[in-house]
Formats: sequence, C-alpha cells, structure tokens
Amino acid sequence: MQLEENNIVDQFGRVHDYLRISLTERCNLRCFYCMPEEGIALRPKAEFMNTDEVIRMAETFVSLGVKKIRITGGEPLVRSDAKQILEKLSKLPVELAITTNGILIDKFFYTIKTSGIRSINVSLDSLDKEKFNSITRRNDFDKVISNINLLLDENYHVKVNAVVIKGVNENEIVNFVQWTSDKNIHVRFIEFMPFDGNKWDFSKVVSMDAILSKVRERFGEKVTRISDRKNDTSKNYSIAGFKGTFAIISSVTNPFCDTCNRLRLTADGKIKNCLFSDSETDLLSAMRRGEDIVPLIRKSVWNKKEKLGGITSFENLEKRKNRAMISIGG
Ligand code: SAM
Ligand code: SF4
Repeated sequence: MQLEENNIVDQFGRVHDYLRISLTERCNLRCFYCMPEEGIALRPKAEFMNTDEVIRMAETFVSLGVKKIRITGGEPLVRSDAKQILEKLSKLPVELAITTNGILIDKFFYTIKTSGIRSINVSLDSLDKEKFNSITRRNDFDKVISNINLLLDENYHVKVNAVVIKGVNENEIVNFVQWTSDKNIHVRFIEFMPFDGNKWDFSKVVSMDAILSKVRERFGEKVTRISDRKNDTSKNYSIAGFKGTFAIISSVTNPFCDTCNRLRLTADGKIKNCLFSDSETDLLSAMRRGEDIVPLIRKSVWNKKEKLGGITSFENLEKRKNRAMISIGG
C-alpha cells in the first residue's frame, strides 16, 4: 500500500486505515461469551456519542486516510438513530460494513441496501435452535435464519461469525461447513477470546488446528486453502465443489498482529488501538471541549503495542483490566 502523508501510522510502520465504530453497548441478545451474566451497568445517554458526534469522528478518521468503516456494538441496529447514521456514513468515501446479530436486518434492509453496504457479518454460533437460544439467552433463532436467507435471496455474500467454544458448539464445526455446500455463505470460525466477565479459560478454546483437523477428518482431500486478502484476519478455505467457503480466525493461538490495520472507537468515544489494549484515549471529551482530536488519535496509534495490546500470554490475564466485549465493540 502507498503510504500517504496524512496516514495514521504506528512505531512498527503499520498504516491504520480500517475503523470499527461501536454504536452502542446495548444489545437485544445476551450471548454468554460477550455479555457478563449480570449485564453491564447502564450509563447516561450523554456519555455516549450522539448522531452528529459519530459522523464527526468518522469524518476525522477519513481525513486521516481511513478507507473502511465497520459499524458494530453491542448490537448496532438497536440504536434508535442507526438508520440516520448509516445514511450519513454512506456519503463518506469509504467502504461501509456492518457486524450484526441479524435480528433486525429485515427492518433495516432498505437502509442497508441504499447505503451501499455489501459486507455484512452476521453472528450465529449454532445451527441448532435450542442451543442458539441457550447461548444467546433469547429466542431469536428463526428470525436470524430467515434474515440470513433474505440476504442470500438478495445476492449478498453473507459472512457468518461463529465463536467456537469447547463443550458448547465444537461438535457443529462440520455441520457449519456442510451448510456452505449450496449457499454463498462464508462461515468464519472464531477462537474464543478472553474479556471481562466472560468466564474464559484456555481449556475452552478450540484452536485453529483442532478446527481444521475436524474439517479434514470429514472432508479429507477436498479441503482447499484459498488466498487471504491483505490485512485479512482469517485463514480461508473451501471444500471442492461447495458454493460457500469457510475461514478460521485464530486470535488466540495464532494472532495476526503483524499486518494489523484496525482502530476501534467505543460507543463512549474512546479510541482503543487494540482489542486487548488496557489503555484508551478519550476523544469524545476532547471533541466536546472543542479541541483538535487528530494529535490524540496519532499518539494513541503511535503507542500501539507490537502484539495483542502487550499481552505476552493469554493464560494469566486475570489481573489485567479490559472491558467486556459488548462494551468494546467486536
Ligand atoms: N452484536 C453484533 C454481533 O453479534 O455480531 C456485533 C457486536 S459482537 C461484540 C461482534 C463479534 O464479536 C461477534 O461476531 C461475536 O461473536 C464476537 N465476539 C464476542 N465475544 C467474543 C469472544 N469472547 N471471543 C470471540 N469473539 C467474540
Ligand atoms: Fe449482543 Fe453481539 Fe454480544 Fe451477542 S455477540 S451479546 S449479539 S453484542
């Protein structure tokens, strides 16, 4: 990639041109690996970015060379002004994408279509209705499946995110891959990651190697490695003759920090330079004081750690502070 003068760069020469904006910490599901059982403390609305502030933040990042913006959360579509935000973001010269649990896709379909979003990641951790409902502590399996079908009918290339957890859904890996046989679906198996309140421990992680060997056991020689795109966080595969593809995101056993180009903006306006970073920079307060936030952005990214926010081992994370995933924005 050509380095442009205004690009946001860190000490390791990594250009950061992909921004994930969390629109809210709220959600209409309660996935146990993301949201602590006791929920998260509700905070006054004034502590979060309003519509205009989301757009002003996005514009600032775009002026610094950001080329792709992904909207996430919590569940981004539960925000009452989600439609206006998508419409306004669609006017910026960026590739716009969204990660959603899928429940509200039909309600937002017109906006999704007209805002030019082509990349939609839908989270679905089980193809079994009872299990899905138990993981998410709600009863929306049918809705999510019908909305995935809606996207497929409209010729979207749907990416399905499935967090694989030992003793929960590892027995469905093969079923998920089989599901891609006649559908233009890209299933992405994500290794279970540790965040505050999610009862993570290493023994619950199903590693990339374990996922692959299950797929190879079933599909043998038909498993083909396909090319990854630059800055891809996933290792991509297909099964010969299948319409869809699958991938593995090995954030725990084989992280992909070398080519990281990601920035995260939390719903309360803090820049987090890595999912696992324990430091944040408050852009929203500075913006509200009328200060220039560009130097803060540059400083935060410059100080980004080489790997995993400075974690050297996932196994002794207890003393480290981080947010729950739901309040970071995955
Ligand atoms: N609500 C939306 C959704 O579920 O797609 C967007 C937010 S969610 C935090 C974004 C992604 O993070 C989802 O695909 C979810 O499965 C993933 N995620 C949440 N907690 C995780 C964890 N502990 N380990 C790995 N992935 C996780
Ligand atoms: Fe909500 Fe997404 Fe977290 Fe599930 S993974 S609780 S849908 S934010």
